[in-house]
Amino acid sequence: MTDYLFDTPEVKSIPVSGETAEYPVGRIFCVGRNYAAHAAEMGAEVDRDAPWYFTKSPSAATPSGATVPYPPGTANFHYEMELVIAIGAPVFRADRAAAKAAIFAYGCGLDMTRRDLQQVGKDNRRPWDLGKDVENSAVFAPLSRAADFGEPGPQRIHLEVNGDLRQDAILDDLIWKVDEVVSHLSRYYHLRPGDLIMTGTPAGVGPVVAGDRITGGIDGLSPISLTLADPE
Ligand code: MN
Repeated sequence: MTDYLFDTPEVKSIPVSGETAEYPVGRIFCVGRNYAAHAAEMGAEVDRDAPWYFTKSPSAATPSGATVPYPPGTANFHYEMELVIAIGAPVFRADRAAAKAAIFAYGCGLDMTRRDLQQVGKDNRRPWDLGKDVENSAVFAPLSRAADFGEPGPQRIHLEVNGDLRQDAILDDLIWKVDEVVSHLSRYYHLRPGDLIMTGTPAGVGPVVAGDRITGGIDGLSPISLTLADPE
């Protein structure tokens, strides 16, 4: 056994509805601009050639129900409500059918974003890491097995801040469907169990402040919540 100089990072995991074993978090991929109305509100065109991605560190994973400090370095911290795909089998260079078969579960997720720092990145043609790979910014609700959830389609996806509705769409509004995303991403990565894909957010993104409580849901999945505390 290797003797490490320091404690190794803890493995983050997400509960699975109705099961005792949890889903260990591997990599976190995020799809950009996957709802046309959200792309429009960001002043961007939808890229219909191919989906594209950014990533978050596994250490950013945070359980639904948590209270987290308002993060440093931002004055415009945004919520993004998203459908999450959890991979359950190795998948590489897969067609859509094989990609679909590799989806183990779905869940509700929040892609919390330092929007002002993301914009600095966009304006200066720099990476988005400071805007997107934020500590505690990948919030995951308990997962539901794909067979229990069924096909993503007419289910409503919504988010509220302090009870006020801010995002409201249906999963059919996804430009790149779940099997297309997994198939495309599998051309670039050996996807494996533990890999999570946040599929993008509908229109209506906006800021939160310390003291706000975010709630969200997707029909048929466990709901999600996050509370913002004062900055550290
Ligand atoms: Mn997002």
